[in-house]
Amino acid sequence: MELKKFIRDIPDFPEKGIIFRDITPLLKDAEAFKFSIDSLSEKLKDIDFDIIVAPEARGFIFGGALSYKLNKGLVPVRKPGKLPYKVISEKYSLEYGEAELQMHIDAISKGQKVIIFDDVLATGGTALSLKKLVEKSGGEVVAMSFLIELSYLNPRKILSNDKIISLIVY
Ligand code: AMP
Repeated sequence: MELKKFIRDIPDFPEKGIIFRDITPLLKDAEAFKFSIDSLSEKLKDIDFDIIVAPEARGFIFGGALSYKLNKGLVPVRKPGKLPYKVISEKYSLEYGEAELQMHIDAISKGQKVIIFDDVLATGGTALSLKKLVEKSGGEVVAMSFLIELSYLNPRKILSNDKIISLIVY
């Protein structure tokens, strides 16, 4: 299935010069959404791992479905002030602007093998900060996976030692 036709390009959102890859057409199409989850599961199923870590908001949509399909737990990573228990934090820079992510202090146990999942890999800043959160907790990132990779932003440069698995590459 040609998934790119379910991704809508929105020029100059949320800022001039950014082409936003809108996944909502893919989400509302039952076959395209199912095909995406099935294809990602196929790519991840032979990796030895314990848990998926995914950031809000679009990471939750795929992270949740993949956790169910691969029979693994899910750790939600959120923007500041949303998680109710004690958190650890990581500040980072985005393709557009600055941001901070938080994870519960007890979400990952020492030695757990983690797959990081997000919808879009752009500059790699988010993925790198997710990795730092996991490592602060004593976990090990065994792979990072994305629905979409924007290779023209060169994200693999800052993630050079990581195994990266993407479904759609621009
Ligand atoms: P980055 O940290 O630059 O790799 O950005 C990744 C995060 O920002 C992901 O959570 C994406 O959802 C979002 N993002 C960044 N750039 C785009 C884009 N061009 N289209 C859609 N989402 C994006």
